[in-house]
Amino acid sequence: MILPIVLYGSKVLREKSVEIQNITRPEVKKFIRNLYETMRGAQGIGLSAPQVGYAVKAFVVDATPLYDEEENPDESVKDFVRTFINPEIVEYKGEKINYEEGCLSIPGVRANVVRPDIIRIKYYDEEGNFYDEEYDGMVARIIQHEYDHLLGILFTDYVKGLKKQLLKSKLNRILKGKTQANYKVLPKEKAPLLRSV
Ligand code: ZN
Repeated sequence: MILPIVLYGSKVLREKSVEIQNITRPEVKKFIRNLYETMRGAQGIGLSAPQVGYAVKAFVVDATPLYDEEENPDESVKDFVRTFINPEIVEYKGEKINYEEGCLSIPGVRANVVRPDIIRIKYYDEEGNFYDEEYDGMVARIIQHEYDHLLGILFTDYVKGLKKQLLKSKLNRILKGKTQANYKVLPKEKAPLLRSV
């Protein structure tokens, strides 16, 4: 089921997410399936639970649309589809990389964000399997962006100074409900704030 995506200004996007209990429950599996459907329906490459109104620790990533044999022959994104439940990034390292990001909750806004190239993350999938893995490059960036959502952080928070001023009018348009998206969205007044799945 495709869920509506909550927009910038929604309280749930500023919450600290809570852990999901008993992660192998069918309700959790269904929720994760809905996250994938919603992400793909909106042509996103990552989607976190807060973006559909749940302040719980889960996000999904499907980096495969980024792969292109000619334009972007990056093997690390080629088959990268992962579910992250109760994740914890335990290490950030490597070079600091500046790269442009966007967010399904902030349509029409893109900005450069500096992030470390490498992370180490511990997490579970929807089958209850535990992982402790290191990622770098594009995949590490997507994971950091989605993980930030669980902490109530948005990529626009990293934009400072004059560049932030330039973003303000676009962000205000979203706050006023004037922004269009080609997927189902909920304005901040209608966004739910749920703390369990
Ligand atoms: Zn986002």
